[in-house]
Amino acid sequence: MSAEKRKVAYIDGKPYEIGPNHTSILKFVKSYLGEKKVPTLCDDPNLAPYGACRVCSVEVALEKDGPTKVVASCHTPVGENQHIFTSNDGLQNLRKNIVELVLTDHPMNCDTCEVDKNCELQTVANDLGISDHRYNNPKQHKGTPKDTSHSYMRMNLDNCINCGRCVRACDEIQGSFVLTMSGRGFESRITTDNDMLFGDSSCVSCGACAHTCPTDAISDVFQSKSVKVDKKVRTTCSYCGVGCNLETSVKDGKVVAIDTPKETEVNAGHTCIKGRYAFGFYDHPDRLRSPLIKRNGKFEEVSWDDAYEYIKQKLEKIKNESGPDAIAGISSARCTNEENYVFQKMIRAAIGTNNIDCCARICHSPTAWGMQQTFGTGAATNSTEDIYHADLFLIIGANPTNAHPVTGAKIKQQVMKGKKLIVLDPITTDIAKLADYHIRLRPGTNVAVLNMMLYYIVKGNLLNKDFVENRTEGFDEFLNHINGLDIDHLASVAGVDKQLVKEAAIAYATAKNSMEFHGLGVTEHEQGSKTVMLIADLAMITGNIGRRGVGVNPLRGQNNVQGAADMGCQPHQGAGYFPVADKKIQDFYTEKYGAVHPTKAGLKIPEIFDAAINKEVKGLWIIGEDIVQTDPNSAHVIKAMESLDLLVVQEIFMSETAKLADVVLPGTTFLEKDGTFTNTERRVQRVNKAAEPLPGTKPDGVIVTEMMQKLGYDQPTYDADQVLAEVADVVPFFKGITRERLGKLGLQWPVKEDGTDTKILHEKEFKLGKGRLKSFDWKESTEIKNNIKEYPLILTTSRVLQHYNAATMTRRTKNLNIVDEDILLVNPIDAKERELNNGDIARLYSGRGEVSLKVEVTDKVKEGIVFTTFHFPEHMVNMVTGDGKDEETKCAEYKVSAVQVQKISNKFKTEISPSEKQAEIVRN
Ligand code: SF4
Repeated sequence: MSAEKRKVAYIDGKPYEIGPNHTSILKFVKSYLGEKKVPTLCDDPNLAPYGACRVCSVEVALEKDGPTKVVASCHTPVGENQHIFTSNDGLQNLRKNIVELVLTDHPMNCDTCEVDKNCELQTVANDLGISDHRYNNPKQHKGTPKDTSHSYMRMNLDNCINCGRCVRACDEIQGSFVLTMSGRGFESRITTDNDMLFGDSSCVSCGACAHTCPTDAISDVFQSKSVKVDKKVRTTCSYCGVGCNLETSVKDGKVVAIDTPKETEVNAGHTCIKGRYAFGFYDHPDRLRSPLIKRNGKFEEVSWDDAYEYIKQKLEKIKNESGPDAIAGISSARCTNEENYVFQKMIRAAIGTNNIDCCARICHSPTAWGMQQTFGTGAATNSTEDIYHADLFLIIGANPTNAHPVTGAKIKQQVMKGKKLIVLDPITTDIAKLADYHIRLRPGTNVAVLNMMLYYIVKGNLLNKDFVENRTEGFDEFLNHINGLDIDHLASVAGVDKQLVKEAAIAYATAKNSMEFHGLGVTEHEQGSKTVMLIADLAMITGNIGRRGVGVNPLRGQNNVQGAADMGCQPHQGAGYFPVADKKIQDFYTEKYGAVHPTKAGLKIPEIFDAAINKEVKGLWIIGEDIVQTDPNSAHVIKAMESLDLLVVQEIFMSETAKLADVVLPGTTFLEKDGTFTNTERRVQRVNKAAEPLPGTKPDGVIVTEMMQKLGYDQPTYDADQVLAEVADVVPFFKGITRERLGKLGLQWPVKEDGTDTKILHEKEFKLGKGRLKSFDWKESTEIKNNIKEYPLILTTSRVLQHYNAATMTRRTKNLNIVDEDILLVNPIDAKERELNNGDIARLYSGRGEVSLKVEVTDKVKEGIVFTTFHFPEHMVNMVTGDGKDEETKCAEYKVSAVQVQKISNKFKTEISPSEKQAEIVRN
């Protein structure tokens, strides 16, 4: 018992302690006496208290035996010594009367209503003993036509009770303001923006309205609340790094719907279109269902044993003739931690090489490297929930409302509530439209603009001197560098307004808590790692690190890219980020794996491609990465693949890369496997099998393990829990993780042996002891220096909300109904010069290749910049992107490709373009 007196309030005469989360009487009562103690109708714990229906009314007295007052418990704060009465005849009559009035505007025949038992209105009515109502409403809004225009949701407003939950969810959770209430009195009804059909509205399909609707007036197409399912399985989304918790509904062994579970920390009541609706790929007819070996240019179905034997013989031949370093592996951020761990173990312990990498190479390897150099740990310093504690957001090179939609929506909500926002982005993204300071820099000039911000903070004497003195080193050199900067030159090369940058820098330095997020617009540059280190400088000199609501927070792209790197799928660091060049570390892994650990440094992905072309790498095993479509300069990648003696591709679909393979092994989706993913905030979360693997397929961990055994390595039969236990033994920051301890909400690493996890890194000291301040000059990208004269536009690429990377999964869902091609955004000035109009087809080309794309003329892109996505193999946009790389990590420079654009045709294509021919060749 603490010395401090605990505050209590009384529920039906009994005292209960008031906790920090008891922000209303309703929350207080529910937390002690359960969900059903006080009925509710318009309340949703994920929404702000509304107090419209008043079904949750309770009586409250301010002292024992004092006079009572009826209040709506959902929005009345609980106070010390309050006496709360949850039920008496008066309250029950009041509640019944309210619900009866609600029922007057609702179909009363529950027996024929589709919604059945999951209807919250029916449940409340039943609990209150209501079987009929006494009132007549001649204007009852029956007969409203059902709106079936949306790909994923239905509106049946006959069932609507005007509780407003859907409108509030759209506003408060998603921030899209698509739904609204129109009309008055009995005429009031839900409408979409401009009274459009649901499917034609600006809905972004997050499903928050369907999730909260108590009566199924808005419901998912896949499963209205009426469908009885066999089981619900909680799991973690396999698209982006937000790591939303999902609840799958399984019927007859098939996943039929996905919703959000009630209890979540990551995504409370929210998902995006991908996590909630784009799961139809998992049992799509295109799924690979048998191992395949290519013979005489054609794939033949073979048994698993034959496939393993074939691979074994080829690998052994390569190893005998050229040594183990002639073999390499590329692991998958789609796969679980356990699968990534066994794969890197196979490459290192069973094959004997450090040639193992993953897609972090082409996304956040500069983040990991840069933050390791400055802080000692390369992962996000803070938790997503810190968004609620920040006063200012600095977003650099990220489009979170498209690429990390649930986190993007949270930031958007906070900004709409008045928190400040700085965005550094050449594109006017949705989040940039809300920014107080949108610095529209030229791609490739992040270092210039960050140097400017650092300069203005130093010159404005806005440093956190205590932090700099006690927690950092290298300040003198840092200061010398700042003093030598030519701000006019930097502003000119970046194409930015000095005053705007100055104001943004002052805002960042003077806000109480400034929280930074960055994406691939930081890392996918020649100076990507340097940019990350300057972001670290910004946080350190202003003391915005090591506490709540601040920090440096990479938005990791793929669901488990953090985990793939944590598990050692990197050529220079093994599981737990131990440097494999260190003899002591080699001995450590040798002891753990029971096999001599390789000593030679491994190759990074671009080096693997070059080595394949040079015949130094002859065998490559790729899991779940469509490198032909997603890695830059596709022609170079294809040449590398075609140079190999053995290409093994473990996939769920016949991807562009799989088409070039010698052996294809059919893996499974996240819905068919157990394990864990680690999200962008270091949260290790459980992945639970919802459906059995499709016939002919195997979970990826099983495939790798069986291959290890075939190669003679003594690896036990694959069991995700056992592998996790091994990971906990090898990786120090996984020490206290067990599957049981992860529970529903997961744990954020580092996790101590006793299971305590870590929400904020670097609170007292950095892993390096003191944080290292670094200085760098801006340098023009080699790509621009060499090519901009001939190719005067800068191409930068990213994703749309509806699709994910190569769109291998999302293209096999109804998301394709919404977006079905890559579009080229061109600034009106550049378009005019080239006589381009909306809908025209243009040739986009560089020194590497060319593609043809439909044009959208828009000032979302700055003059001199063009933008597109790379979701569709029909276009193969990476034919055009270049070979530029981050100087330290070799991360591809996707954000800067020198290109030219030329009109091919007006609106509709008249003939097949060279790019289409090229893409056709790749596809076949
Ligand atoms: Fe999945 Fe990311 Fe969407 Fe969440 S925000 S549902 S993790 S894709």
